[in-house]
Amino acid sequence: MTESSGRGRIGVLAIQGDYAAHADALAEAGATPILVRKPEELRELDGLILPGGESTTILRFLEKHNFLEELRQFCSSRPVFGTCAGAILLSREVRNPQQPSLAVLDARIERNAYGRQIDSSIVNGETTLPGGALEMVFIRAPRFLSLGADVEVLARREQDPVLVRQGKVMAATFHPELSSDRRVHQAFVDLVARFRKD
Ligand code: GLN
Repeated sequence: MTESSGRGRIGVLAIQGDYAAHADALAEAGATPILVRKPEELRELDGLILPGGESTTILRFLEKHNFLEELRQFCSSRPVFGTCAGAILLSREVRNPQQPSLAVLDARIERNAYGRQIDSSIVNGETTLPGGALEMVFIRAPRFLSLGADVEVLARREQDPVLVRQGKVMAATFHPELSSDRRVHQAFVDLVARFRKD
């Protein structure tokens, strides 16, 4: 094991959206980020981030390049973290409108759920991560409508769950990579380290 892989080789799906900010955040949290554009690039990874962006665009690319099934297999066996559009891709059921997904997170999610007036906002919310309230950047954010019994809520925006975990799957409806607080990426890096194959 090389020193740089000490905290895990974590891929960032780099098809569309703000993957570069995630790569920086992962590096700051002590992992080795790897940009992923092809299915075969998944093989060497210990974990993966699905970034925010436009879930329909990402989905169309994945379907067109026969990437969806390999990604589904990866996401059902290795740790994965979806933010915003990434959370939509992970959820079992997508509304507004309905669309296919990887369905590895037991959740129903509604796209663009906060309406036009509050398309984007920065709020402080309660979190169970140590260190107090968490800054959360929302951009045309989705909202979880319901969560399965195995899904743990790690942060809320008022009543709404916005950061959740089910086993090896983490999802946020906001953009932790756009804040300077690295606790959320750190939590994922720690999760990857726990599930890592030696
Ligand atoms: N509105 C986007 C979607 O539905 C998600 C927005 C984001 O990732 N910032 O896919």
